[in-house]
Amino acid sequence: MRYEGFIIEEFNSYNAEQIIEMIKQQNHCIHLYGAGIQSRTIITILEELKLADKIQLYDSNKSKQYSKFCGYEIKPPKDIDNLDSAYVIVTCCFPTQILRDLNPRHKPMSALPFYYQYKCLLKNDNLHSEGLNYSRSKCDIEREFLLYETEINKMTAKLDPGILKLKSVDAVVTEGCSLKCQDCSNLMQYYNKPKSADINLLIESTDRILQSVDHVYEWRILGGEPFIYKDLSTYLDYLSEIPKIGSIIIYTNGTIVPKPELLNSIASSRSFVDISNYLELSRKAHDLIQACKSKDIQYALKDPIWTDSGRIHPHKGESNQQLKEKFFNCCTNDVLTLLHGYIYHCPFSANLINLSSKYLNEKDRISVLEHDPQILRTMLTSFYKDVEYLNSCNFCNGRDYTVDLIDTAIQTRKVLDLPK
Ligand code: SF4
Ligand code: SF4
Repeated sequence: MRYEGFIIEEFNSYNAEQIIEMIKQQNHCIHLYGAGIQSRTIITILEELKLADKIQLYDSNKSKQYSKFCGYEIKPPKDIDNLDSAYVIVTCCFPTQILRDLNPRHKPMSALPFYYQYKCLLKNDNLHSEGLNYSRSKCDIEREFLLYETEINKMTAKLDPGILKLKSVDAVVTEGCSLKCQDCSNLMQYYNKPKSADINLLIESTDRILQSVDHVYEWRILGGEPFIYKDLSTYLDYLSEIPKIGSIIIYTNGTIVPKPELLNSIASSRSFVDISNYLELSRKAHDLIQACKSKDIQYALKDPIWTDSGRIHPHKGESNQQLKEKFFNCCTNDVLTLLHGYIYHCPFSANLINLSSKYLNEKDRISVLEHDPQILRTMLTSFYKDVEYLNSCNFCNGRDYTVDLIDTAIQTRKVLDLPK
């Protein structure tokens, strides 16, 4: 199965021990493409293997280049192009974009075989946490690599026309939030009268989607703030019975500790709680972590990095080619989003169209319950695999490494107006 000229099976199933032996014997370097969450872990492993002097680190984000990450200088990827051959481990959770940039004479390798072979070397006291406000844990890292695995699975499923396995579905259970971030990429700052999901519609539309697909690797629950949704416990109890869902993730801002009934549903559905660490704004994060520990719930506390992607812009007038590029590079272009019975391509598009019908283009969404499961499967397949850009992209800054980084979670009192 080929993607961008590379054989996926070779990319994702090599013998990590053999590669390490070759690097040692032939005195090669090992090149890590992507200076972020995955490379932190791979660097720790390489250091434990006494290969620190062989590490070369690259990133296409110009703002990172020539700075240091975990003690290694980040170089521009064009430096890899100058090498005749190279062992390149793709240490970025969006390997599709990186494979497009690499030359087939190099030997790109997924980070997964390497991680699975050597994760036994990771200990809670040797993990790089540079630049983070919290200490990483092995559970946190396991989830990072699960995300990576989901990306690879998405690549193979996209190449196989008979399979419909979705990387993820974001179920928006409420438009309300306990914070009001002026740059919320889910556009909560534009809601005047936020509504929550009708639980019957939510369960019926979830059910119809799941009848139509082969698998969903992650069913993610978000808002706004999902812990203000009064029917969350009912929804989790329903989801926990569905074998087609790989894992359930709840995204929270760390301001609320759920009541015991909800904590029990989180625990029994084996949901993973992903806590955004907005420091003093996430005032209950510590209590939430204690509650998770008391119920044996898996969780991670994360320092979010925000790009300037949370504002609705006037129509940008970009060409079709520019829109295709923006969509291709976008890190949420395949984060299918369920909101009030419609499925959209990304949370921005879902909330944009939900906020005002002036942004509606029927190609950007599917009304889930209007179609029987077989027809819905055909529509979802084409929606998921063939769309090249959305009408919504015209109003969006994009979400990729070229978009400026901004401060996280700056609060606003005022509901923002939609552009004229
Ligand atoms: S980014 Fe801020 S406003 Fe948006 S959902 Fe998260 S906490 Fe709420
Ligand atoms: S609207 Fe387009 S560019 Fe913006 S987040 Fe969605 S897919 Fe990405």
